[in-house]
Amino acid sequence: MKFQRIAGLLEKLAPKSLAESWDNPGIQVGNPQQEIKRILVCLDVSQPVVETAIERGVDLIVSHHPVMLFKGLLNIRTDLYDGRLLQQLLSKNIAVYSAHTNLDIAQGGCNDILAGLCGLERVEGFVPVQGENEDFMGRIGYVGESVTVVEFAKKLCASLNTSHVRLVKGGPDTVHKVALCSGAGAEFISQAAFKGADLYITGDLKYHEAQQGVKQGINIIDAGHFATEFPMVKSLAEYLRKELADIRSDVEVIEDSLSQDFFQVIRREGE
Ligand SMILES: [Zn+2]
Repeated sequence: MKFQRIAGLLEKLAPKSLAESWDNPGIQVGNPQQEIKRILVCLDVSQPVVETAIERGVDLIVSHHPVMLFKGLLNIRTDLYDGRLLQQLLSKNIAVYSAHTNLDIAQGGCNDILAGLCGLERVEGFVPVQGENEDFMGRIGYVGESVTVVEFAKKLCASLNTSHVRLVKGGPDTVHKVALCSGAGAEFISQAAFKGADLYITGDLKYHEAQQGVKQGINIIDAGHFATEFPMVKSLAEYLRKELADIRSDVEVIEDSLSQDFFQVIRREGE
């Protein structure tokens, strides 16, 4: 199947028009006309992911984080990480497609996946995307039965398959209304408090952002950028398999199961 047609299936779920203005979703590497037989879905196009793609005869990598972002392409130094990655991809004719903030905002995208894993009910959009009233970054909803924030945090570790989360106990003991933003969403702490959430879940939280939660009387769980986003790999792979089956395509979809969070927790001796 042509790369272009698979890009079309991805854009049906996450239209590029939903993306933030600074973002760079869509085709990163390759030719829209090239033939694709096997797809690998991942969070980041890392060296191990590219090696897996080469080993397993993958023609297309679909990632959440774009390969090229922020700086623009100023050089391709093949002695450095990014340049070597591009060299490997091009020499093996492996295409790359990324769905980033458009997948965060999309119905059924990263934030809906996270809301599902948090067991939220009556889920609605959280922060309206600029200039739009129907598209939202993050989600806000309710937990079914009253639970303490510590119990909630423990359950979240299990459902996100992570060893730990960090809790900022700035709000009430029990949790009812929960706001969330997958990845890095510390900028929305005030909105979460303003909307009456007892708990805000995101990743990449800094010290003074945690302090802001305490001052505004809201609990915050930093579940990690990786842990809040990695579940998209399985969901997006399942979406692609279903769409491809519907059009009787035999393109194979595999998932990156090897990638792990960059952060590891090292405890003091004897603890
Ligand atoms: Zn991210």
